Amino acid sequence: MKHNFNSGPSVLPKEVLDQAAQALLDFNGIGLSIAEVGHRSPWFVPVMEEARALVKELMQLRDDYEVLFLQGGATAQFMQIPMNLLDNGQSAAYCDDGVWGSKAAKEASLFGTANVVASSKDKNYTYINKQFNIGTENKYLHLTSNNTVEGTQWFSLPDTTVPIVADMSSDIFSREMDFNKFSLIYAGAQKNMGAAGVTVVIVKKDFLQNIQRPIPSIMDYRKHIEAGSLMNTPPVIAVYIALLTLRWIKKEGGLKEMERRSIQKSTLLYNTIDSLPIFSTYVAKEDRSRMNAVYFINDEALQNKFLETCKANDMVGVKGYRTVGGIRVSMYNALALESVEAICSLMKDFANKNG
Ligand SMILES: *Cc1c(COP(=O)(O)O)cnc(C)c1O
Repeated sequence: MKHNFNSGPSVLPKEVLDQAAQALLDFNGIGLSIAEVGHRSPWFVPVMEEARALVKELMQLRDDYEVLFLQGGATAQFMQIPMNLLDNGQSAAYCDDGVWGSKAAKEASLFGTANVVASSKDKNYTYINKQFNIGTENKYLHLTSNNTVEGTQWFSLPDTTVPIVADMSSDIFSREMDFNKFSLIYAGAQKNMGAAGVTVVIVKKDFLQNIQRPIPSIMDYRKHIEAGSLMNTPPVIAVYIALLTLRWIKKEGGLKEMERRSIQKSTLLYNTIDSLPIFSTYVAKEDRSRMNAVYFINDEALQNKFLETCKANDMVGVKGYRTVGGIRVSMYNALALESVEAICSLMKDFANKNG
């Protein structure tokens, strides 16, 4: 068995993969593949409807929220959000706590003013800057709920009346929260809710009013809402895998259970890092991500040896992001506790031999 610590695309539940493989050959016994039926057919429409409904159910969203499945990844949302929400001359506030958040701010500046109201760049993004003021002239506040690359995560929301927009690409469906406090939530599916190719966008309907800018239809949230996410051909296989993953989350006990597992796994890993002097993490303790642990061995040669040792022990995806380096262990929903136990025991063994 491989221990899959990939940061994304990443580990999926085995039963989801089995069901997806079956559907690719013969979908629900209809004698056709899921890839061979029309997206407006009586076979696919219920897939889209159930997926949208399950997102709302799992997150306990009120009726004034719409759920869309779109293409272009979370990266397309960096542009689509300001295109739909910021008129020329308007401004939005951005938290710059990592590579993804800064990219989002950069794209927004093509459509209006992107005010960076908080940044943790001064300390290489090793913490979440929560000390800031947001002027009410800002149309929204954008934050990244989990910084996949740097290994930090938000554990409480900023206290503001400005609508909050969150990139939840790497921690969606990993914990309970009052999601009705957000005006827009988006996430690429390939980290915690399925395969690459589809992006979920959850938006409060009244947030999408009064924009003067002409918006191309394919970019216009309102048109996608009207069409029930079937304006054009959606990525049917990716939507189906997202549905299977959502069903799996519900069956396993929903967000409460995902959160319990995530706390258990990340606590075990961080305790192990803290107990072994050879390993260190620069991430502020209170902001440590439960999804992505980023840490180092200060001696580069030894660190490379550790990465090689992981590989030799069937552990994949442990190398840090190219600009950060070091070690990154991603612990998404589908990662078994046994995998975290395995890397922790390997770390102890490695420290004994090389410490
Ligand atoms: C991976 C990731 C992205 C980029 O997602 P794509 O689907 O590749 O565009 C954006 N934001 C966060 C927080 C991510 O983890």
